Amino acid sequence: MQSAKTLQGIEAEIKHWKEVREATILAHNYQIPEVQDIADYIGDSLELARYASKIKAKVIVLCGVKFMAETAAILNPDKTVLIPDLGAGCSLCDTINVEQLRDWKKKHPNAVVVSYVNTTAEVKAESDYCCTSSNLLKVIEAIPKEKEILFLPDMFLGAYAEAKLGRKMHIWTGECHVHAGIRLQDIEAVRRRHPNAKLLIHPECGCVSQCLYLCASEGYNGMAVLSTSGMLREAKLSQAKEFIIATEVGLLHRLAKESPDKTFIPVKEDAVCKYMKMITLDKVLASLKNMVYVVKVDDDVARRARVAIERMLQIS
Ligand code: SF4
Repeated sequence: MQSAKTLQGIEAEIKHWKEVREATILAHNYQIPEVQDIADYIGDSLELARYASKIKAKVIVLCGVKFMAETAAILNPDKTVLIPDLGAGCSLCDTINVEQLRDWKKKHPNAVVVSYVNTTAEVKAESDYCCTSSNLLKVIEAIPKEKEILFLPDMFLGAYAEAKLGRKMHIWTGECHVHAGIRLQDIEAVRRRHPNAKLLIHPECGCVSQCLYLCASEGYNGMAVLSTSGMLREAKLSQAKEFIIATEVGLLHRLAKESPDKTFIPVKEDAVCKYMKMITLDKVLASLKNMVYVVKVDDDVARRARVAIERMLQIS
């Protein structure tokens, strides 16, 4: 946390350099509060991709992780896309590379490949569809029932889609270390302390299938499986006053800001994505001043990846 004076000074400098560069700052919902507060637009992966596809600015500063900056670069070949820290990766994205996907496709030559947006540009280029947690079910429903599906890389998200749609898929065994670490016992412990709170759970969580089972079998009331943007909407619209939040804790800042009359309890205080937290205000400022770090995607990879990304944007 920066001191108030320093914070104001840095914010003013960022504003100045943003004008000089004709830049737009996009931030993911898991970014630190200070970064969210200086962003022109905050959203989940799908919203950032959609917003990036319509941007007029010359420069996009993507405050998130690298695959998000790649997606913005693919959708904006004529703009400069910057990420303030090149080390901002994603443990889920790292669970599959393009060679592994090609080998998997060879074993299932007629399958349709559905990739969660948390993948490299190369993996997207080998995919038929991209999806996010916001439109996952709609994307799978858009594929003819008789078609075999390879779903990657998140196994919990895949299992959730199978359970919701009653459709078997081949699922890659990747996971996000942050969401996989949210266990049923963590949720049960918080529910005991807050029995009237509504549970909002992200489908990447390791316990989402168990929660769905409990929901169906034991009347596990007041639960919704939602993307981060879905959680923000639900918090505003719901009659409930108290919510248990099962996702990365960065979302709590926006939830509290947009629904100040409600209470939000994180399932795990330490559900923190170290990659998302690599982006700081100092780095955003340095990024604008020095035009670093430029994220570029090879033209051929970008052309092929764009097909899968555009299908994702159409189905939402
Ligand atoms: S929270 Fe998980 S899926 Fe999201 S960027 Fe971090 S490691 Fe990747």
